[in-house]
Amino acid sequence: MQNEELFRIVNDPMNKKILNILRCKPDIEKTTLAKELKIAFQTVSKQIDILKEQNILCNSNRMEINTRAYLACGISIGGAQCKITLVDAGYRVIDENYLEEIFEKTGVLRQSFLKKGENNRTGAGYRYFETPDNLKELTENINELIKDIIKLHDYSKSISTIPPISSIGIALTGSIDASKQVILKSHNLSYLKNMKREMLVFPDVLQKLREREIPLIIDHNAKALAVCEKYSLYQTDNINKIYQNKRNILSFYLGSGISCGLILNNKLERGCRNLNGELGHIVVPRYPKLQNAPLKDEQCTCGGRGCLEQYIISDGFGMTREEFKASTSEMLKEKLRELSEEEYKERLSILGYYIGWAIDLCIKLLNVGLIIFSGKMTCIMDDLWGYITYPQSNLEEGFLDCTKITSKYGALAPAIGAGILSTCMPNEGIEWPEMEII
Ligand SMILES: [Zn+2]
Repeated sequence: MQNEELFRIVNDPMNKKILNILRCKPDIEKTTLAKELKIAFQTVSKQIDILKEQNILCNSNRMEINTRAYLACGISIGGAQCKITLVDAGYRVIDENYLEEIFEKTGVLRQSFLKKGENNRTGAGYRYFETPDNLKELTENINELIKDIIKLHDYSKSISTIPPISSIGIALTGSIDASKQVILKSHNLSYLKNMKREMLVFPDVLQKLREREIPLIIDHNAKALAVCEKYSLYQTDNINKIYQNKRNILSFYLGSGISCGLILNNKLERGCRNLNGELGHIVVPRYPKLQNAPLKDEQCTCGGRGCLEQYIISDGFGMTREEFKASTSEMLKEKLRELSEEEYKERLSILGYYIGWAIDLCIKLLNVGLIIFSGKMTCIMDDLWGYITYPQSNLEEGFLDCTKITSKYGALAPAIGAGILSTCMPNEGIEWPEMEII
């Protein structure tokens, strides 16, 4: 099947709704599905048959997504690391074994700059490289990767176990205008400024993508994060699956800085111009005992002073911005562990104060029902829970509804979400089904 044809079928409004429901509730009965879609049973049956004929659903008695119908490629460009992964048609990241199998069969993604993730507790398949400090090297690396993804797509025509590539998504930090597909500015990578999506890709590579009808989209990493986190709640092996019915979710991401992805009433929120979620750049009161202490960096990356992320990095982790940028979640945990017990507890109290301030803001402003901590936070959250404190207030009702958990995929979530978002139109409103899961 041509990619355009595959994309047309997958993006047909009714098919899209059906597939979305099946990703979230794979065991749904056909009658319930028809009820959810508010259409006749016969119409649903006919549509299911079409999806089976096209091999997008498995040819079995059940309505099961053929996870190998296609793969979407997700790339995240963070302040410290760029990651690349593949997401299947069920919106699940492929595992390391399958990724290795694909690489062995095709010889792709063997570049010397690519590294294999360590401490990969989820078993997810991905590769990463350290984000270069200049645009030339970054674009060269990204183009190398995209060229290999194109090769992979071409191999799908001759190797039956390799699915076609449906699309490529790139998630970036900073201000991304998703409707115009423009990187306005990245606080953490100053060389990414006023760039159209096409400027990331060399003309010959762009031409190859066009010839194969493989769309490429860019989006904000916090939006990609939120989408990944919500879909991962529907996975039966996710320990957090009991929260899949939460309709108002905030995903808190600590990368080189802090941002958050927002789902309200089961819809991905983008704000007027995809610029919401800049939680890290909200000015907050400093930890009382450190009121007059010097800061590791005088200014925040946004140009302001007294931002939440500036204090978390300087006061909480005791690092300069550059030191923090270069540290992974495990390295941060290790660094904190090197402190004396007393100092370590003090640091947890400081972090707990700032995180508590952020939670308090999000609950009071948005009344969210679930906060997911992701990125570099994942490793330290187990120690931190007991140290989170909230500003004194008699307005605590919002806390009744709000559960706080750590992410399944952590720092890989934006790359997975980029893959998922690439299967949709740029800037598309993403929604989750409203049904109650039994
Ligand atoms: Zn700032």
